[in-house]
Amino acid sequence: MSFLSLGISPALARAGEELGFAEPTPIQTQAIPVVLRGADLLGLAQTGSGKTAAFVLPVLERLLAGAAHTPRRVRALVLVPTRELAAQVGEVFRSLGHLAPRPPKVAVLFGGVSVNPQMMGLRGGADVVVATPGRLLDLLERNALRLNQVEVLVLDEADQLLDLGFADELARVLALLPARRQNLFFSATFPAAVQALAEPLLHEPVRVEISSPETPVAAIAQRAIAVDPDRRTELLRHLIKEGGWKRVLVFVATRYAADHVAWKLYKNGLFCTPLHGDMSQGKRTEVLEQFREGRWDIVVTTDLAARGIDIADLSVVVNYDLPRSAVQYVHRIGRTGRAGKSGLAISFISAATEAHFQLIEKRQHLVLPREQVPGFEPTQAPLPPPLAAPGTGGIKGKRPSKKDKLRAAAAAVADAAPTKAA
Ligand code: AMP
Repeated sequence: MSFLSLGISPALARAGEELGFAEPTPIQTQAIPVVLRGADLLGLAQTGSGKTAAFVLPVLERLLAGAAHTPRRVRALVLVPTRELAAQVGEVFRSLGHLAPRPPKVAVLFGGVSVNPQMMGLRGGADVVVATPGRLLDLLERNALRLNQVEVLVLDEADQLLDLGFADELARVLALLPARRQNLFFSATFPAAVQALAEPLLHEPVRVEISSPETPVAAIAQRAIAVDPDRRTELLRHLIKEGGWKRVLVFVATRYAADHVAWKLYKNGLFCTPLHGDMSQGKRTEVLEQFREGRWDIVVTTDLAARGIDIADLSVVVNYDLPRSAVQYVHRIGRTGRAGKSGLAISFISAATEAHFQLIEKRQHLVLPREQVPGFEPTQAPLPPPLAAPGTGGIKGKRPSKKDKLRAAAAAVADAAPTKAA
């Protein structure tokens, strides 16, 4: 199967080849023909599946087919949850479109940086806008752009958009779009809240599913290592040195922990740096750039800072602190094992977080053996599972619900972590 046989123009297929896309990934094979024929799409796929090019290529194809307008008008709008993802998707549009007879003008809009350069960038219009909802609304209020000619709307990582509380902003943006348009909806998971968002938006959508929601790609080897919390940094150092790991992404619960762990590893001779929301956008971009270039071997980060990050050849993801939810677990480990490459995801489990990890495993239909590394054997026994109070067993409504257990387990995770919020 080739991109050409899917209906992609030579100029776009060639740009794909330049990026190393020899042939379409499964989501691309399924999604591209659907998008090209103008149908709405519900894509259940994770970052790493090639989902970005699955919508970028056919959207570019549509732009190629239309007449050239001066000034340019926004014909494709992509909404994303984070600035990193916005920058990344914008870059994919630019690099896949650069050999087109009239390369598209792509505006990338996100908060946390000065609004002025983005306003300037919108002068003369743009063909494609990739934006986080808040900054987009800000620029709409300033009359920096109009959305009344949008032909295609893409919601990328829709579950994260909702997770981050963008529902109201999304509704406000949607109200400004023409009713007649094509809608492409991508999400790694499809819980009820995301379904509720998708249903009114999509008109007879074609559903394309790459791996079942909340199930990580098979290419990722997952391991769970039991260790006392205060030995984790030492163990991490040991594993990195022993495995000769390069390109390691370490997840911690808080900004403080990101700084602390990164500094300790750095002091011990590892090329390690933190990445978190306390750092300026410029600094975060610089760290990511340097990580991509191989200047850093290890980045220690929080969930928020790492959302949507795409780093080729990320070999290992470490859950130094466990994620709060099974969905977040999938997002984290999906950073490795991308586009068919194999990856490794390691979770550190302590007595206090054992119950929480069991819930994640259950949601994943997964049972991982608890490994012990010689010299780092845990000394603390897992806490007994949360049981109903004596005398209440078996009475509906009195047992702790799944939510109660999750809450208790999340509290245990939070208690085990330093206090400053991520
Ligand atoms: P995504 O799921 O869109 O974040 O893409 C994950 C990674 O796969 C990115 O680094 C892409 O450059 C890469 N990729 C996308 N499509 C292909 C393809 N057809 N062949 C090889 N790599 C690809």
